[in-house]
Formats: sequence, structure tokens, C-alpha cells
Amino acid sequence: MPRYLPDTTLAQGACETHDPTGAIIPPIHLATTFLRPSEGYSQTGWSYSRYGYPGLEQPEATLRTLEGAADCRLFSSGMSAMTAVIMALKPGSHCVFPIDMYHGMRTWLKRYSAQQNLKFSHADMTDLECMRAAIIPGQTSIVWAETPSNPHWYLYDIAALADIAHKAGARLVVDNTVATPVLSQPLSFGADIVVHSATKYLNGHSDVLAGAAMTARTDDFWEQVCFNRDYHGSVLGQFQAALLMRGMRTLHLRVGRACASAMTLATACLEHPKVEKVYYPGLPSHPGHDLAKRQMTGGFGGMVSILVKGGASEADRVTARTRVWKPATSLGGVESLIERREAIEPNSHVEPNLLRLSVGIEAASDLIDDLWTALG
Ligand SMILES: *Cc1c(COP(=O)(O)O)cnc(C)c1O
Repeated sequence: MPRYLPDTTLAQGACETHDPTGAIIPPIHLATTFLRPSEGYSQTGWSYSRYGYPGLEQPEATLRTLEGAADCRLFSSGMSAMTAVIMALKPGSHCVFPIDMYHGMRTWLKRYSAQQNLKFSHADMTDLECMRAAIIPGQTSIVWAETPSNPHWYLYDIAALADIAHKAGARLVVDNTVATPVLSQPLSFGADIVVHSATKYLNGHSDVLAGAAMTARTDDFWEQVCFNRDYHGSVLGQFQAALLMRGMRTLHLRVGRACASAMTLATACLEHPKVEKVYYPGLPSHPGHDLAKRQMTGGFGGMVSILVKGGASEADRVTARTRVWKPATSLGGVESLIERREAIEPNSHVEPNLLRLSVGIEAASDLIDDLWTALG
């Protein structure tokens, strides 16, 4: 396949169909089992859908191209993709995670490591000295970064982290959910594995739960990640794969719009008397701004967090008063969402008055007017 610009790859992502009808979009094959060749039991094509089926080919190829990966697997959720990576580690392994990161992964790790022979620690990955100190020589197998990170949108230096990880004989895994491959391709900075909650921007319409894992090279570790999907049964379903492919075709447009509106909103919030602080990597005042300029292209993402003056109760009053912003969890959809994060992740040291804003594709002026009315 020729190397097009990402916009073209995405827009045409579903069109490489070899369907005999000439249908421009591939059909959804619901079959769980596929005919064997007439002789013998050697299976060359599809066999049983838990191991894969035709409808995975295009979304996996599209993501592989966008991220510059050697291989891609789609999973039934972001969490199933991410846990498949951790569960590919040998017993006794140690992993380093950021302090600021997706809370679901933090919750899972805590319980899983208590039950299994896995050690992990959290490091402030914005501080590379702190990061180096977190490595346990001979034991650290994975350095895990999420950049920009939930919910402060800190930037972690992928090239520097890859260097630290590789010198310790470890792999760097990057959760690229928030940046999306439109804004950042971690493998090009030296990451070994990229994971996504495809539930968010990749699908973009809040109607599919999906995850993806991608690798820079197909080695034994990657084989174990694939084995985990096949044998845990965490493959993405057929309908979901078709919806995900449809959603991804407009990824560049949605992300571009969200970035532009988020920048306008974040800048406007700086001036609002009821806003104590704004976290957005596009603002020069954000600690990750310089790194974001080097590591992200085309924008700083669609996620903004603000601290509201007057504490948690005042922040709750804001989420109760918005009309355009929907009070709900998740991110990366076409509709804008607002949430007081501490209510969701009380153990993550999030400020009690932090509102996380997932900027959708509505008119930026409507988003600002609505938030201004709610702020009072
Ligand atoms: C939502 C999310 C996940 C988990 O993905 P699911 O699809 O909900 O399982 C992981 N990482 C980040 C950054 C997320 O936003």
C-alpha cells in the first residue's frame, strides 16, 4: 500500500475492499467459524473468530499505518489491550508507571500485583532523574507512559524514556489514547509498544468499547500479547470493528476541530475570574508546553482541565448547570463532556475542584458561552 498522508489513509481506510459485489465498504461477516480447505486440516486463512476474522483486517491495517507499527491487534476494550501487555510479562517483573495516569489501569494494577508475582511503582515521569531512580536493575521490564496524561495533561518525554528503558533492558509502552496517532506517533520516538482505548478518539462517537495494541517489532513478547488476546477471548466483536472503522475515517477532522476549540477554550479560561488554574499543554504556562511542541504535531489535544474557585461544591454546581457540556465520564467523542474527576478517582491525588473537559466538535462559541453561564 502506498504511503499516503494520514488524512488520506483515514478517509480511505475502509475502501480497500475485495468484495466481489464491488461494495465500497466491506460487509460484516458474522461467522464464528470458516470452512477448511478441501483437503486436510492445515488452516491457512480464517478458522475461528476468537483468533481473528476478515473485518479486523482494515481497522488493524489503518492503525498500523498511522502509528508506523509492525503489527496491530484490536481488543474488546482499552483495558483488555493494556492488561494483555502486562500479563505478557514474566513472573517477578517490575514495571514503572507515571503518577498521573488513567485511573482504571491504576486500580487494576493494585489488585493484580497483590494476587500475582508482579511489582510496580509510580514515578514522576516529568522528572527524568526521578524516573531513572525508579528503575530496578535486572528487574524492570516495562516503563509505561501515558502522554498527555490524565487528568493534568502532563507531557512525558518519549525519546528520553525509551532511552532510560532500553538501557535497563526494559520496554517502553505508551498509552496514546489522548494524543491519538494524528498528533503523536510514539513508536517514531523509540517506544516499543503503543496501546489505545479506541473507545475514545479513534471511534469518536461514544458507541463502541474497543482497544488496540501495536508493536515496533514482532518478537516473542508480542507473540505473548497476541496469545493473550486469542486465549483470553478478548478480541473485538464484528459489529464493533465495523463501527470503529467508520468512526476512524473522520479521526483527523474530529481531532483537528477538538484541538482548535480546546486551545480557544483554554485561553479564554485563563481570563475567567472563577477559574483558579487551567491545565492545557497548548498554553505556554503549562509545564509540558515545550515538550508538547516537540512531541506533538498539529495541535495539543482536545482535553482541558480547570480548577474552579470555591472548591468541590462549586465545581459540582458548574457540572449541574451546563447544557451543551454533558455531565458524563469518558472522552474523545464528538459531544463535549464535563466531569469533576476527584469524584471518579478519589485515590489519585486529583484536586477536589478539578473539572475535566473533553472538548467535542460543537461550535467553540457555544461551548464557551455554556461554560461561562454555568460558572456564573
Ligand atoms: C478510557 C481509557 C483507558 C481504558 O480504556 P477502555 O476502552 O475504557 O477499557 C485507558 N487509558 C486511557 C488514557 C483512557 O482514557
